[in-house]
Amino acid sequence: VNLSTLSSRLAAKFRTRFAPSPTGFLHLGHVVSAMYVWGIARALNGTVLLRIEDHDRERSRAEYETALLEDLDWLGFVPDVDDSGASCVRQSERAAVYERAVEGLRASGLVYACRCSRREIERASEPGESERRYPGTCRMAGLQDGPGRGLRVRMDAGVEEFEDGLMGLQRQDPSAQCGDVLIRDRVGQWTYQLAATADDIAQGIDLVVRGEDLLASTGRQIRVMRLLGRQAPPVYVHHPLVYGAPGVKLSKANRDVGVRELRAAGLARADVLGLAAARAGILRAPRPLRVDELAGVLEASGRTGE
Ligand code: GLU
Repeated sequence: VNLSTLSSRLAAKFRTRFAPSPTGFLHLGHVVSAMYVWGIARALNGTVLLRIEDHDRERSRAEYETALLEDLDWLGFVPDVDDSGASCVRQSERAAVYERAVEGLRASGLVYACRCSRREIERASEPGESERRYPGTCRMAGLQDGPGRGLRVRMDAGVEEFEDGLMGLQRQDPSAQCGDVLIRDRVGQWTYQLAATADDIAQGIDLVVRGEDLLASTGRQIRVMRLLGRQAPPVYVHHPLVYGAPGVKLSKANRDVGVRELRAAGLARADVLGLAAARAGILRAPRPLRVDELAGVLEASGRTGE
């Protein structure tokens, strides 16, 4: 990353966040994300808020959360506190924030109830589409909201443009990519798109740093923010992912990259940071890396590649 360019796009004091989902243990992919989040924030005088994204009740577990917090702490990634003095918020405790956001979206007249199941949407989408696009089946159905019904917000055609701090200029048209965005599922859970966007607004997040697997979500999140009255979106940085086997996205199945396993195998925190950096292409080869070296290494990785 080019820290001086980023800094020119951010206020002297700004807020960023680290937002893991407690659906598994911390792995090298999280470590890379944390390296970018804390590396940039510490270099540019930003505040880091920690947000546990446990909106999905079925997949989230308290033991994963405890382990994530402990491993982050062990790695030296310590969050700052927000205005209320809290160092960590949990999405499962923020229903009021999401309800308020949905009310705001309703005021735009673009929210409607949907009864489609995932399977029905899969059947209706065109083969070869990179992402399932909701075809708008319930848009005009005038369904009553209630149990068993999802909620969607209409995405009218139009391009959202943003300058990604690592990936350059992006142009995304959510209506073509995903169609109308699901904001509450049929079980009544807030979706990632709604919860993360509402939180980024409510927490006053100026800089969003996350993996490039979420790049496609950004245009729709910017759109939802605008509908909710936030005209200036955050600055976005989508960083390279760590891969397991070549081309395979990391998951809990990749045992060799779990921070717990690496700790148990005797690696020190600097070894884990160095390994993560090498696996993401930030360093050419692993070497012990201290938290206070991160900014320099991130800055250099785009240019010379140590
Ligand atoms: N909770 C998401 C994850 O763990 C990150 C969401 C975000 O940073 O917007 O992948």
